[in-house]
Amino acid sequence: MHTETNCIQVAVMAPLRRIFSYAPPPDTILQPGVRVRVPFGRGQRIGIVIGSARCPADIELKTIERILDTQPILPIALQQLIHFGAAYYHHPLGDAWATALPALLRQGRPLPKPTPWGYRLSASVTPTSPRRPGKRQQALLNHIAKIGIVPASDIPALLRHTLRQAIQRDWIEAVAHSATTQQGLPSSHHLNTEQENAVAQLHAARGFRAWLLEGVTGSGKTEVYLEAFRPHLESGGQALILVPEIGLTPQLVERCQARFGTYGVAALHSAQSDGERLRIWASAAEGRVRIIVGTRSALFIPLPRLAMIIVDEEHDPSFKQQSGWHYSARDLAIQRARLENVPIVLGSATPSLESLYNVQSGRFHYLTLRQRATGAAMPEMTIVPLQRQNLLGGLSPTLLTACRETLEAGHQVLLFLNRRGYAPAVLCHDCGHVMACPRCSASMTWHHRQGRLRCHHCGHESRWPRTCPTCGSNTLITAGQGTEQLEEVLRQHFPQTPLWRIDRDALHGRDAFAAAITEIRQDRAALLVGTQMLAKGHHFPAVTLVGIVNTDQGLFSADFRAPERLLQTVLQVAGRAGRADKAGRVLLQTHLPDHPLLQSLALGDYRAPAQALLEERRAAGLPPVSALALLRAEAHQRPRIEKFLSAARDCAPPGLSVSGPIPSLMERRAGFERAELWIQAPNRAQMQKQLGTWLAAVGKLPGAKSIRWTLDVDPLLLS
Ligand code: ADP
Ligand code: ZN
Ligand code: ZN
Repeated sequence: MHTETNCIQVAVMAPLRRIFSYAPPPDTILQPGVRVRVPFGRGQRIGIVIGSARCPADIELKTIERILDTQPILPIALQQLIHFGAAYYHHPLGDAWATALPALLRQGRPLPKPTPWGYRLSASVTPTSPRRPGKRQQALLNHIAKIGIVPASDIPALLRHTLRQAIQRDWIEAVAHSATTQQGLPSSHHLNTEQENAVAQLHAARGFRAWLLEGVTGSGKTEVYLEAFRPHLESGGQALILVPEIGLTPQLVERCQARFGTYGVAALHSAQSDGERLRIWASAAEGRVRIIVGTRSALFIPLPRLAMIIVDEEHDPSFKQQSGWHYSARDLAIQRARLENVPIVLGSATPSLESLYNVQSGRFHYLTLRQRATGAAMPEMTIVPLQRQNLLGGLSPTLLTACRETLEAGHQVLLFLNRRGYAPAVLCHDCGHVMACPRCSASMTWHHRQGRLRCHHCGHESRWPRTCPTCGSNTLITAGQGTEQLEEVLRQHFPQTPLWRIDRDALHGRDAFAAAITEIRQDRAALLVGTQMLAKGHHFPAVTLVGIVNTDQGLFSADFRAPERLLQTVLQVAGRAGRADKAGRVLLQTHLPDHPLLQSLALGDYRAPAQALLEERRAAGLPPVSALALLRAEAHQRPRIEKFLSAARDCAPPGLSVSGPIPSLMERRAGFERAELWIQAPNRAQMQKQLGTWLAAVGKLPGAKSIRWTLDVDPLLLS
């Protein structure tokens, strides 16, 4: 006869697609979401209790080593979010949990003890209190008496000991939360009609509802977010703002703090130390911080009184994680809003085709801001044809003249080139041989200042070759331009003008970037040269000329999303121009002046070309009109991945249309051959239903254990 016994199911923090069972500890009820330390293989791992089950009694179960939490580490809605996200992206649950938790919690450290929000005099303190306080204590008591409630963060370290004594003597008491009666400061702007309408609709929202807020650059979207928060904050709620990039957190935190500082505002991003992140995480979980501004991983921060979620610059591909758990923080944010039953706003000047499609199919509500809030005009766009022009480091005479005029007027110029380094290729002038990375199917980028050829895909480095490896010639030349070369050319051409290069090579760390931004904000002539980093969300009041140095880069990519990204990038960069009281203009350098996408871009409008791209996607059966997933495989020998992928294709269920294997955009990377299968279904729900069973079969194929393979659901960047 089979007997059964209780066992505890644990998602172990390891990239393994299964749940493990352990013997329950005696006399303890383990709630789902509690961390445990369990024996695993020859060592130990941290895991999360996900439930209990009945197992056959004759299986010998290992025992849970230690229970790390008395309460679930995450509230139920976030546990559900992680389970949903692991299932949707077909990622191991334990690893999804590991991604969602701050590093120290993932490693098994305890939650920090709750610290009070602030302090006030206890009711027992009267002018005639029996014991006489010392001098320092008196100073502290006076200070607190004057202010009422003093936030813990405002008490200097020097007075900590004094504070502790005063608490022991019952003169001072801790206050757990900021008082909900406190108020933020009023907006310094008078909202315009469109903003007011948007704010009113958001105030009226009850429960889950998703909105797309489409507002041209500088239209005052941030102002709408902040005012939308106000009543929620006043009644004790919390707000979460997700931004695509670390660089955008300081300015947003600053604006939140200026208005709602009394409620507690904090940033959460990867440049913080593990300890700092855990402290902020804990204070959000305790409700002491009421506004969190964070990058992707902030999606999982517990907020017991969450009232609204904002995803700013929602079109940005950085919201999608490109390694490990391939989740989209934007898409999971919508799921979080649904689970927590709160409204969510996706904001952008250039919404993703996904979001536009969701508006058109009625899943999202729509808000729009068509005017710049400051009254500034939208910049004027001009196409600069490059054919037969004499270029100086990639710059046409037209663009150089415009730079000179702008600088002479005392304004700033922003030149956008999405390519780091000096030149994207080095080649032989005699035979045309291109110096390629030995490990990737890509050319090496020349970095002049470091004197190194570097592969931007795997990091491989080498020196400038003395002779051509093919023909022995010693005339090797660079081809094309990167930001480093642009900087050099501009310094020669405008030797007196301050110049800022903004890219990952020129600036290290968040402080360098923030410092540069502060300098740039000063109202004086300057040249800014930069990559993506310059394009996003920043406000540069003195910039009146934007030059897109290499518009065509985005037209030649084999990634079907490249035209959409080109459109978004150009309009975002263009949006940096003329945001204050000065009019702006944008010059687009291109060899294809008649290209229809550039023609419509030149009108400065996003919606018409975006709609045209959406129609193209519909005709081609591509997302967002259908669902797409990629099964990518890598191995040292190409025949092995092709055999594996072909076998995978052959066991696909009829509801999925699978094509391939085809070589990935980069056929070889870091020494690995790469190929992929394209999996398509009419919609995400149908894709979802079939992928699970298929993956189980794929996991059993010969080669499944020795070949690196990953599934990317809703892939964003082909590579
Ligand atoms: P977005 O987030 O759409 O880029 P912001 O909220 O940053 O726009 O606003 C752009 C600029 O316009 C900021 O300098 C902001 O202070 C200003 N602004 C916003 N709303 C108004 C308004 N109603 N009246 C005047 N200026 C405004
Ligand atoms: Zn040669
Ligand atoms: Zn390489």
